[in-house]
Amino acid sequence: MSAKINPLANPKGANKVCELCEEPAYIQCTKCFVTFYCGREHQDDDWIAIHQKVCQLLIPVRTPVPYYTLEAEREQHCTQILERQKLLMEISQMVAEKKLFEKRHKESLPAALLSLRSAMDIYGTSGVQLVPAYLLLAEANIGLGNLSPAEQYLTWADWTVVRTPDCSRTVRNKLHRCMGRLFIVKGNLEEALFHLANDIYYASEEYGQDSIVTCGGYFLMADVFFKQGKMDIVNSLYTEVANTWHSHLSKLLEKHIENTITPEESFDEAQQAEADQMLRSMLDVPDGCPEQQPDQSAALAHSLGMLWLLDKDPAKALEFGKRALLYSQLVPDCSLTEPIQRLLQLAEEDLNAANKGWPELPHYPSAHTENQKST
Ligand SMILES: [Zn+2]
Ligand SMILES: [Zn+2]
Repeated sequence: MSAKINPLANPKGANKVCELCEEPAYIQCTKCFVTFYCGREHQDDDWIAIHQKVCQLLIPVRTPVPYYTLEAEREQHCTQILERQKLLMEISQMVAEKKLFEKRHKESLPAALLSLRSAMDIYGTSGVQLVPAYLLLAEANIGLGNLSPAEQYLTWADWTVVRTPDCSRTVRNKLHRCMGRLFIVKGNLEEALFHLANDIYYASEEYGQDSIVTCGGYFLMADVFFKQGKMDIVNSLYTEVANTWHSHLSKLLEKHIENTITPEESFDEAQQAEADQMLRSMLDVPDGCPEQQPDQSAALAHSLGMLWLLDKDPAKALEFGKRALLYSQLVPDCSLTEPIQRLLQLAEEDLNAANKGWPELPHYPSAHTENQKST
């Protein structure tokens, strides 16, 4: 669905510019009245990419501060606006990340742009807080094959990090990962390995050697070794990544069954998309890779099953669970058979409950909050 649009009354005299290309604007969104476009195409692109999620949130942020006689009232208003700007930045950043993991690079661009604008509204036009948005814009452009703007954003990000001695390891880790991606695309594999080694160093310092953040760097490194034809290293890196995800998701599923997952531990949409993309691409072995061992395929399919069960899609969980069971049957005394059967049972219970419209399963407390019906 697209928002309705209205021609602006006096486009020539107005200094409104398009949300996406900053050319003069001729139409506006008639749901918020604070967002302008050069034409229908950019309005539609923005709506699909991010605007539908933030349209109403933009109204207070982009409306001039009203006149307050009391200083306290004015301060309170400004605090509220700041909170909304931060929310806007978080939402647009998360949406851009999610679309990047889904390889929808064109759609990630408007979200990444909005995250940069929101960061600038909050922190000014320089500062390390802008770096995550620069990196999203760089990555979207890398995905679209626009290497020149990607390099420009990366230069700004790098320059900002260099000038910030106390810059966090999280930001440094993201910067090197993005640099690694750029050099992979440019075919400069040695330079890519240098940046990915740095990425892994900062990630393991911050999150630990066996964290899911760190293994994102190993996954990209495997891509480089694949291009160099070093399949032994590719296999060992894939095994490392597969094991990390499997043990992480197994722990998370246990906590989910006990209903003890904390908000920090639960996945957001971007992390969900990243995990799905990474696990699937390892499960569907790329051409030229040696045939995968069935125990690793079982672990990958089991991980995907757990991922989808946690994301409240029992049908997909069942599909991957069945695939995992088939692989596990090829391995003598496979230690995964029992947990896989448990996953299948949970997925079937969830699916039955969803079909019958049951409110909640007693042993499985937080799985059905969206489909609850009062009895
Ligand atoms: Zn435009
Ligand atoms: Zn709008």
